[in-house]
Amino acid sequence: MIEHRPLASRIRHIAISPTMQVAIEAGRLKAQGVDVVDLGAGEPDFPTPAHIAEAAREAIASGFTKYTANMGTAELRAAIIHRYREDHQVEYGLDEVIATAGGKQALFHAAMALFGPGDEVITHTPGWPTLAEQVTLAGAIPVRVATTADTGFALTADLFLSAVTPRTRGIILNSPTNPTGAILEAPEAERLATEAGRLGLWVVIDLCYDRLVYDHQPHDLPRIFGAVMRDRLVICGSASKAYAMTGWRCGWMVASRDVVAAANALQSHETSNVNSVTQKAVVVALTGPQESVSEMLAAYQARRDQLLAWLSVEPRLRCVTPKGAFYLFPDVSAFLGSGLPTATDFAQKLLRDEFVVTTGGEGFDAPGHIRLSYAASLDRLREGATRLIRFARAQVA
Ligand code: PLP
Repeated sequence: MIEHRPLASRIRHIAISPTMQVAIEAGRLKAQGVDVVDLGAGEPDFPTPAHIAEAAREAIASGFTKYTANMGTAELRAAIIHRYREDHQVEYGLDEVIATAGGKQALFHAAMALFGPGDEVITHTPGWPTLAEQVTLAGAIPVRVATTADTGFALTADLFLSAVTPRTRGIILNSPTNPTGAILEAPEAERLATEAGRLGLWVVIDLCYDRLVYDHQPHDLPRIFGAVMRDRLVICGSASKAYAMTGWRCGWMVASRDVVAAANALQSHETSNVNSVTQKAVVVALTGPQESVSEMLAAYQARRDQLLAWLSVEPRLRCVTPKGAFYLFPDVSAFLGSGLPTATDFAQKLLRDEFVVTTGGEGFDAPGHIRLSYAASLDRLREGATRLIRFARAQVA
């Protein structure tokens, strides 16, 4: 007899992150020795810079391997504060910062601490699915507003404000955005901050890619929002993308004391402190030389430009130039049809036929698109572009 074991209701509507599914499939093929071009990964292909890794070795050698304060060492929290002071001229206290297991946990704590049943929380599409899923896990209702390719997926104040109802409790935005690379520009940020402040809404900003903005464009959301609605602002950041430290698992929340205290209470019953060795490494990442960040940024920008150039030979693959992060989000709808109805079908067949890993836009609430990560070498990008174009043309031949 099959035992009936119902899971809790909160889990019924949650699916594994689509980007993680892609990683599993790519890993399976690679293990079989297939020449896979992996443009699916949401992580830097660079190694963690040597001086950062060295700090971790020293931490182990000196026995820094015990529990630390739940919210992270004072040294790490001071390093996070230092970075925001240097980069955005904002000032926070040690009790306004908590180190978390990646930006993901900071965002989860924000959702759990701020939102609950009956609350509407506005977020944007195309977008990273975790943001809305976490709102659902908190029991609140994610309200998705759509950015579109014809405006470069621009995030605007009006877009968010048009969805405000009496039940709206907050806004969660991700800039630069995964998967479009769009950013919230200063005038829009100023207007949104003013209006959200007036309406008494929480604004959670996911700045996990904020060190990866191209063409020297200003991107100063902590200062802009902090100037008018600091007590309702929750900044979530991460060492993962800027310092090529995805596996180390360190992010942070910077917010008012009561929000950080709530996150600290949650974390004390979940995961406790971030890995002690990681904390030592992240102190060096944040306070040490920042050249590696600029070098990686320059490499991503060169790859972005090159990939756009390679793909431009097939104009039916319509691309918007990303302003940040390391993803391209082409519209592949010209190649869809009865045999290949969705972008996810496109991505799956592309993997089967040409061994190129991408992610279908449906996972980002954006049908008709696929996401390509250009955190890959120029050689692999050239090969991936060649195979992608060959595959796309074969679908309409
Ligand atoms: N926010 C966005 C938009 C992301 O794409 C990711 C990771 O892919 C994160 C946050 C969280 O990254 P981490 O938990 O590694 O800091």
